[in-house]
Amino acid sequence: MSEPTIFSRIVAGEIPATVVWQNERLIAFEDIAPQAPVHLLVIPKTQQYANVSELAVGDPALLAEMISVADQLAATHANGEYRLVFNSGASAGQTVFHVHAHVLCGGLTESALA
Ligand code: 5GP
Repeated sequence: MSEPTIFSRIVAGEIPATVVWQNERLIAFEDIAPQAPVHLLVIPKTQQYANVSELAVGDPALLAEMISVADQLAATHANGEYRLVFNSGASAGQTVFHVHAHVLCGGLTESALA
């Protein structure tokens, strides 16, 4: 068994987070260091997939559900418009190797998350 990721520890309730939505397989919470007025993370509860390409191969339906949830969250927390970011790999800025979608709404600049 690999060590729990920081996001698995949030799922387990070991680390507090502002959870905005969840179901059996997914959970969404506020990013601790927001890069936009609304900055949410949508993640699978499993840490089985380290990045979006692993998820796309392993469970494409779950990836589609993540995108649908991101869309709904942007509608309830902002005006429905959003930037969806999946950093994939350390050199692309990924720091947590538990696949997650950044949902960014409002006040975006070209350099957000760059
Ligand atoms: P990455 O850089 O891997 O694409 O994104 C990881 C994100 O997780 C970062 O935006 C970072 O701010 C967020 N993050 C890291 N640790 C925590 C935490 O303990 N709680 C929350 N809510 N977000 C975290």
